[in-house]
Amino acid sequence: MKELTDNFLNAAQTFGVQYGDIRVIERAHEGIAVKNGKVEELQRDSDSGFGVRVLHKGCWGFASSRELSANEVARITKLAVEIAEASATLKKEDVRLVDEPAHKETWATPVQEDPFAVSIEDKLKLLLAANEEMRKVEGITNATSSADCFREHQWFANTEGSDIEQTIIEAGGGIEAVAVRGNEFQRRSYPNSFRGQYHTAGFEVVRSYDLVGNAQRIATEAVQLLDADECPSTTTTLVLDGPQLALQVHESIGHPIELDRVLGSEAAYAGMSFVTLEKKGSFKYGSDIMHVTADATLPGGLGSFGFDDDGVQAQRVDIIKDGVFLDYLTNRETAHIVGNSRSNGTNRADGWNRIPIIRMTNINLEPGEGSFDDLIADTKDGVYMSTNRSWSIDDRRVNFQFGTEIAWEIVNGKLGRMLKNPNYTGITPRFWGSLDRICGPEEWVIWGTPNCGKGQPSQTAHVAHGVAPSRFRNVQIGIRG
Ligand SMILES: [Zn+2]
Repeated sequence: MKELTDNFLNAAQTFGVQYGDIRVIERAHEGIAVKNGKVEELQRDSDSGFGVRVLHKGCWGFASSRELSANEVARITKLAVEIAEASATLKKEDVRLVDEPAHKETWATPVQEDPFAVSIEDKLKLLLAANEEMRKVEGITNATSSADCFREHQWFANTEGSDIEQTIIEAGGGIEAVAVRGNEFQRRSYPNSFRGQYHTAGFEVVRSYDLVGNAQRIATEAVQLLDADECPSTTTTLVLDGPQLALQVHESIGHPIELDRVLGSEAAYAGMSFVTLEKKGSFKYGSDIMHVTADATLPGGLGSFGFDDDGVQAQRVDIIKDGVFLDYLTNRETAHIVGNSRSNGTNRADGWNRIPIIRMTNINLEPGEGSFDDLIADTKDGVYMSTNRSWSIDDRRVNFQFGTEIAWEIVNGKLGRMLKNPNYTGITPRFWGSLDRICGPEEWVIWGTPNCGKGQPSQTAHVAHGVAPSRFRNVQIGIRG
């Protein structure tokens, strides 16, 4: 691969570009799913190619190919230069990149058990066992268990001297039980909805979820939901579990702080943001206990890596401190617009044939104090909601509505009745302003989101959110439609 990246650097020098980089990428994915005791999905796919980006005459040119050869690298580099030249005739202003030191490094996800080396038989054994446990529960209509793993091996080089080899390995899995009676459909998932929980790690994380040990509980809850009382419509204290809070962070903090969205370049597809430029450094995003970080250096998060696709080293930065909004997610091209001298390292592409754009890393609500039991004991009355089932939020990320799979009432510091079809609504800064207690580090988990969509053409990013169960006051709750 070194030969290909050298070919690119030579070609870029010949054309006299201002800046250029190449990413050569090999990717692999394996997905397995078992439904009602039968193997429903067993797929293995892989893909390789390279993409080159040049900054020439003040404009970007990007081109890519799946053919890994010296001639093709030369041809694609020329094409990228021609695209930049064509764009230059229409440009409003020159693209400017903030500085980044040159990095010559090799980085890899720490892995105990390579997920691609674990046999399909081993994985099926685990998934079938979890499936069987769910199906022991009377009233279950469908039981699904699944596991996925991903590997991305990337060689990055740029004209400023960076030369980075990076391997990212991800693994995850989950179970889901569905109970149907007439028109009513109830679902419970574990550890999270939409194919489970994910980490940058080996298969050891999937084993650590104890899918088999949780299967009967999850299935029983799905059946019990059919006869549970509806969630009341009222204004009350709301406690959110980790998976739901992770999605709340994703939609109402992660997306609105993406600087490209703030600047309007994502307006046509993914939307805008209410966190307009004058808000940096002063806007009260939420209550005083709210501390949000963007941290790509955390071990195990789906947003963890060594370097982004600008060749910028992974960083941990404060996004919100004491409830005050401090910084956006930036890349080398946009950081200077908000007065930053360095990118905070969030430019990532979905594979070799896409340009990198600003993506969340691990966007975390930092922990507070105490256990989940302490939090419930400290709550006189309210509702505890768990595991996302539906969501909607407007283009500027202000008005939102979330439904969860299940809820329990909280009465005098104890969990009471199970409640079905729970839903809550809010307005982003007001909702975060009502945050008054966050559980401690012992309850803090990094929840992986492997399906974040953005960009044109569409790109899927793997991101994550470290959170602990938290409490919000005076929230409008009701019945999910
Ligand atoms: Zn998203």
